[in-house]
Amino acid sequence: MDKTNVFTNYNENDDVYASIDLAKSMPKSVFPAEERNPRNVFNAIRDELMLDGNSRQNLATFCQTWVDDEIRELMDLSIDKNMIDKDEYPQTAEIEARCVRMLADLWNSPTPETTLGCSTIGSSEAAMLGGLALKWQWRKKRAEQGLTADKPNLICGPVQICWHKFARYFDVELREIPLEGDRLIMSPEEVLKRVDENTIGVVPTLGVTFTCQYEPVKAVSDALDKLQNETGLDIPMHVDGASGGFLAPFCVPELEWDFRLPRVKSINTSGHKFGLAPLGAGWIVWREVSDLPEELIFNVNYLGGNMPTFALNFSRPGGQIVAQYYNFLRLGREGYAKIHNACYATAQYLAEEIGKIGPFEILFDGDSSKGIPALAWKLKDNAALGGYNLYDLADKLRSRGWQVPAYSMPAHREDLVIQRILVRHGVSYDLGCLLIDDIKRALDYFANHPVTHPLSEEEASGFNHG
Ligand SMILES: *Cc1c(COP(=O)(O)O)cnc(C)c1O
Repeated sequence: MDKTNVFTNYNENDDVYASIDLAKSMPKSVFPAEERNPRNVFNAIRDELMLDGNSRQNLATFCQTWVDDEIRELMDLSIDKNMIDKDEYPQTAEIEARCVRMLADLWNSPTPETTLGCSTIGSSEAAMLGGLALKWQWRKKRAEQGLTADKPNLICGPVQICWHKFARYFDVELREIPLEGDRLIMSPEEVLKRVDENTIGVVPTLGVTFTCQYEPVKAVSDALDKLQNETGLDIPMHVDGASGGFLAPFCVPELEWDFRLPRVKSINTSGHKFGLAPLGAGWIVWREVSDLPEELIFNVNYLGGNMPTFALNFSRPGGQIVAQYYNFLRLGREGYAKIHNACYATAQYLAEEIGKIGPFEILFDGDSSKGIPALAWKLKDNAALGGYNLYDLADKLRSRGWQVPAYSMPAHREDLVIQRILVRHGVSYDLGCLLIDDIKRALDYFANHPVTHPLSEEEASGFNHG
């Protein structure tokens, strides 16, 4: 019901909260008929957004929630530029090309100056492009051999939903390796059990979304080398480095997961995760020009010449790319390593403290050689939380603004419920200490107010693995 205001002489000098616009409920479904005062509308929307909660306390997301003032300014300067208009905005196009070369260099491409790659809106679009390239390459090879190409399959471990989308949208059978006991990621043995002549590629994830662990890219590559020696089957790999693509090169440079392995033909990453760019930045880079089938490339006019593009979208903002380039110049390898290593230290501290509390068993402790700056735990088998479970703990922490997701694992370990914290740029050691206090307070509450009706997964608020 609209508020009936005693005043009738509204005018433009009114305070926002005493204005005619805010004396009523804003339209929610019918397309608005009249104009409104911009200041009043702005305030109404800003206030509503307040209810979204505080993104920096969202420890579920892998995405950036901290931005430098300089990035805000560059985003503002780019707000009117469409990155697809390469001819109109040649410098934005040039900056994108520089970022691709820098990533090819960072990931040890043998030809970083000439190889192909592009920005995307995120890792999901990049995964579609990577998957399509694998499918086209496989189909070409089959055609050359005079063989059918109607049953493509792709092998992966516990993947992010984008690979399920790729498989369904582009008609590829997804052979997702189920989990088994304490093995919560892919293994070379399990990959070998599933490959055949219709396998378009194997996709290990560098930083699995459920447990944050790196899958063993090199061991899988070695196993596929051996398979090729024995059978002639040559199976390419694409690495989903949504998180790890911007972590491993800085924090564990000796880890071989990238183009140092000749079998790795393409890599995707999310610029807006550990690339520290604002939301809407992803990347895919191919090892060499020949790894991207030319049939998938469109040429657009650019400064009177041709510029190859391969993308699902057309118009897209250019600011994220510019902000990504700012980060590369501003931070370099040194700066990225400092920021991410600080996050690893905080994750390890949190893992240690949460382990010490008693009822929790740490499954991933933020070891930088094994995964991303994060931690994950489960409830010990006979732990008693006064009848509560991890969903209740997640719910209780929300009352202090913290979002710490609890969820069940994918196929064959659906029985295993875990809880996870992502430690990103801006989640400081000090903030971590405050969170530990709140976890302890929640457990005290549970001890003093035991229940018999813990939350089920359905009742608990859902979290996305993004
Ligand atoms: C986040 C994530 C994705 C999806 O990336 P977006 O940038 O959100 O599209 C894909 N794979 C993994 C491993 C991820 O962590």
